[in-house]
Amino acid sequence: MPQRIQVDIKEIETVLNEILSTKFPPVARCRLLSSGFSPGHCLNITGNIAGHKECLGCGNCIDICPALAREPHRRDKTEQRTSMALETLVGEDCDLCYACALSCPQVDTTIKHYIVNCRLVEVMSRLAQRIGDDQEPDLDLFLEEAIDAY
Ligand code: SF4
Ligand code: SF4
Repeated sequence: MPQRIQVDIKEIETVLNEILSTKFPPVARCRLLSSGFSPGHCLNITGNIAGHKECLGCGNCIDICPALAREPHRRDKTEQRTSMALETLVGEDCDLCYACALSCPQVDTTIKHYIVNCRLVEVMSRLAQRIGDDQEPDLDLFLEEAIDAY
């Protein structure tokens, strides 16, 4: 069975960088830029869903989002665990940390590698600038521990 060909970053780099620079949860748009289900998926269904890009409702992006971890009451608005719920709960308060896109099973590995190799340095420097903000004690603690570890 031919394996899924993942998206070529060179073909989407401009639009991907626009997505990754916009203060809004990026996971759904990264998913739509991706190649969708592998033909070798192991779901117990008979239909051919290769190439489908739908949100699986797995909730990985909801669980890993630091904006929701810092303010868990936001999750009271809905029990849904989809990218649409993430967009509703976080919206423009997104930290642009990209954890949602990195945790999504429907986002291509090529996109994840691009984020890790080309965008995470910028994320860390943005987070470092926020050390000392009284409004973000959890972030302080997290970063101090991370920096101490080096
Ligand atoms: S995981 Fe990060 S990038 Fe995704 S919505 Fe939450 S804060 Fe934004
Ligand atoms: S991580 Fe799961 S819930 Fe979030 S967008 Fe991807 S498939 Fe949907």
